[in-house]
Amino acid sequence: MTQKIIDKQQVSNILDQYDYFIFDCDGVIWLGDHILPSVVETIDLLKKRGKKVIFVTNNSSKSRNDYLQKFNKIGIQGITKDEVFGSSYASAVYINKIMKLPTDKKVWVLGESGIEQELHDLGYETLGGTDPSLSAEGAGASDDHPLLKNLDDSVGAVVTGLTSKLNYLKLCITLQYLLKDNKSVPFIATNIDSTFPSHGKLLIGAGSIIQAVSYASGRTPDAICGKPNQSMMNTIKAENPDLQKTPSRGLMVGDRLNTDIQFGLQGGLDTLLVLTGIETENSVQSVDMTAAPTYYADKLGDLYELLDH
Ligand code: PLP
Ligand code: CA
Repeated sequence: MTQKIIDKQQVSNILDQYDYFIFDCDGVIWLGDHILPSVVETIDLLKKRGKKVIFVTNNSSKSRNDYLQKFNKIGIQGITKDEVFGSSYASAVYINKIMKLPTDKKVWVLGESGIEQELHDLGYETLGGTDPSLSAEGAGASDDHPLLKNLDDSVGAVVTGLTSKLNYLKLCITLQYLLKDNKSVPFIATNIDSTFPSHGKLLIGAGSIIQAVSYASGRTPDAICGKPNQSMMNTIKAENPDLQKTPSRGLMVGDRLNTDIQFGLQGGLDTLLVLTGIETENSVQSVDMTAAPTYYADKLGDLYELLDH
């Protein structure tokens, strides 16, 4: 049965047992733009004890550089680019390292600037994305848009993620690329979270947008790069060979059972579920044994607060 972290001894055991702490971001480190209680102190404590901290997020709207700015802004200093893995970065790495798409190919993006920036960093030209001519105002009569009429033959992959600037034209052009050349252009999804929490409400997530183009094209994504998919975990392990050798020295901390906890479990790590995001005490109690976290806690900051200072 999942153990609830409620005392100092349990925290000391955790500090002894793990060298790598992988954190989901929204619902663990922050909620939207607000840092959660005692998170700064917890990360400080872990770093002082020589632990490696890594941050992973399924939110594809930002690049790793954008996340570094966000960490600074909310009060977590000194985080470096190699400690941050977003689904936008994971998708760019997938296209480059796993698909081995040549950099003279372009990528069609249904998503925001985070995806574009990560692809540009790896040498790809992108189409779609934040192109202002695709905005509702700029688009004019959708059927006449040149990007809908003239598909670019050098597009070698389609990446789909969340965009809050979604419109019909962008969906229709994405569909054309998914149907093109007998449906042979690879279909990459940043993540398939159906929703995400914002100001106490659930909003439409990338997965729900991806469903629209998936349904229309009759295709399912060839790769889903965010949690729980292991391509991001494999990149993390490749950069941290000790974790690769002994995944049981790593602890994955998350707020969602079907993404974060699965991500840790499938990677061979122990897991800690915190109740500051999606899940509740009830959902921990009722989850199937095979999908249960190793531990759960009211919040990440308990790792700091439960120790004597
Ligand atoms: N996708 C979007 C668009 C989001 O805004 C969020 C959280 O803010 C997520 C996914 C989930 O992010 P995380 O993996 O950090 O919980
Ligand atoms: Ca989360």
